[in-house]
Amino acid sequence: MLKFGPAGNSDRFYAEGYKSTQQAMAWLKNIGLTAYEYSFGRGVSLSDDMAEKIRLKAIEHNISVSAHAPYFINLGNPDPEKRENSFRYILDAANAVKKLGGERIVVHVGALTKLERSEAIDNCRNGLTEAYKRLDNAGLSDVIICPETMGKYSQIGDLDETLDFCLLDERMVPCIDFAHLHALSGGGLQSEADFIRILDRTEEMLGLDRARRLHMHFSTIEFTKAGEKRHHTFDEPDFGPRFEHLAPQLFARGYHGTVICECKGTQADDAAKMQTIYGALHG
Ligand SMILES: [Zn+2]
Repeated sequence: MLKFGPAGNSDRFYAEGYKSTQQAMAWLKNIGLTAYEYSFGRGVSLSDDMAEKIRLKAIEHNISVSAHAPYFINLGNPDPEKRENSFRYILDAANAVKKLGGERIVVHVGALTKLERSEAIDNCRNGLTEAYKRLDNAGLSDVIICPETMGKYSQIGDLDETLDFCLLDERMVPCIDFAHLHALSGGGLQSEADFIRILDRTEEMLGLDRARRLHMHFSTIEFTKAGEKRHHTFDEPDFGPRFEHLAPQLFARGYHGTVICECKGTQADDAAKMQTIYGALHG
């Protein structure tokens, strides 16, 4: 079975008077969800005490926790100091996700940073290999780096680049952000066939077993020529892509990874909508 959940806490959670992420675990279970992605996008700052509270609540309510590593990571940048910072962010996120009882960290691998694309990609590849060496040395070998497909051309991580990164170490599992792929392709995800191509490519590159463990981000998105502009909600029919086009394929192929919703403000309710669409396929 796939796991579904939100990235961070949604507006309704706070509107109902809740304040702390440890309270979110019961709240999510109550609306039928089974996953939660903790955002360290703006930095890793979580006390051990709070992490432990969240971990215990997540176990109690059967919520699978993943984490989003800081947005500042850029392994494409050759500057030694910036690179050290990127490694530190990855290690900090890895440490934190373990304390939360999870193992997956989603990473924006890099950006062009005025380099030729091939050069930036080489830096990213070396950086990911080095990151795993450091995780191994820190006793964090079981952490799963999930390189994310990005929504702008200036960032490294189209589908093939991301899948290629995952060939560097068999522990890596891609985070396929379908909204980003939709934005990057100028609205290319219009039908089930468009999703079939992505999943076929993933299975071809990484094998069925790893594809089945896929980490996914799904939301509707607004885009320009440069790519991603902003995330929207499922109640805005002008924006794609649509989960109805993906769900039958995830079901038919026996995928059992995680689907995280990043819709703006409505991420928990929209994750529950995806869970319902997927659940209905089980008859
Ligand atoms: Zn991301």
